[in-house]
Amino acid sequence: MSDRRTAVITGSTSGIGLGIAQRFAEEGMNVVLNGLSSPDEAEAARRAVDDRGDGKVIFHGADMTKPAEIADLIATAEKQFGGVDILVNNAGIQHVAKIEAFPAEKWDAIIAINLTSAFHTIRAAVPGMKARGSGRIINIASAHGLIASPFKAAYVAAKHGIVGLTKTIALETAEDGITVNAICPGYVQTPLVDGQIADTAKARGMSEEEVKNDVILKAQPTKEFVTVEEIADYALFLSSDAGRSITGAALAMDGGWTAQ
Ligand code: NAD
Repeated sequence: MSDRRTAVITGSTSGIGLGIAQRFAEEGMNVVLNGLSSPDEAEAARRAVDDRGDGKVIFHGADMTKPAEIADLIATAEKQFGGVDILVNNAGIQHVAKIEAFPAEKWDAIIAINLTSAFHTIRAAVPGMKARGSGRIINIASAHGLIASPFKAAYVAAKHGIVGLTKTIALETAEDGITVNAICPGYVQTPLVDGQIADTAKARGMSEEEVKNDVILKAQPTKEFVTVEEIADYALFLSSDAGRSITGAALAMDGGWTAQ
């Protein structure tokens, strides 16, 4: 039990977070799932992860806009499993609109969920990692942490922000056996992107098919979506001993998008 590692993954009832949780479970880790989900959805996700391995899988419904709930997420993981070895900040939302029509409450929600929640989880998890002399923090940023696109003011600001947070905490923890990195994926076909295709179509006055071909796959030289499984394997590598010298990095995984 003592060498079984524990991972906390925010926003892991769907998409990329769920994929990372399943991959980590296959490696025998304990997993703390999180998301804004109905009890049925949460339990379905918990089972889908639990089935993959022999570690323990629990769900915590902390809302990533609520600092006290975020603190309780980390405290619950530490109490239940004795520590958080790997923290994956993945929860995120998107809203696509012209700046002059961008709702202020959407700005606030995106900054809270996509950026500030990671400040709260990291702040709560680092003391335990320092005490054990080891830890892995993986922030799921985006190609939009490295470059911008129009109509995504809050998302691009939050993702650039989380790259800055990644670098800062990497420097602060570099001598403590902790690594902190950001994975910057290009487009991955998840529920988040499905919603974005519809929103972008509205903002740009295009059909959804045109958005998929002329906006999304146009940006990605490979003309293919990045897959959830590829990101999960990358996160697993960063979590391994082989990843110990990679810290403070913003790692593009975007089919060549940001090479242009
Ligand atoms: P998704 O919509 O499939 O999943 C988002 C998850 O976040 C869900 O589990 C949801 O319940 C959770 N969540 C949303 N609001 C929350 C809140 N207030 N509190 C707690 N949990 C909350 O999205 P996805 O595409 O898997 O995205 C995951 C991450 O990857 C996001 O940070 C996103 O920005 C990033 N990303 C996605 C893509 C892509 O193309 N899909 C590309 C680059 C980066």
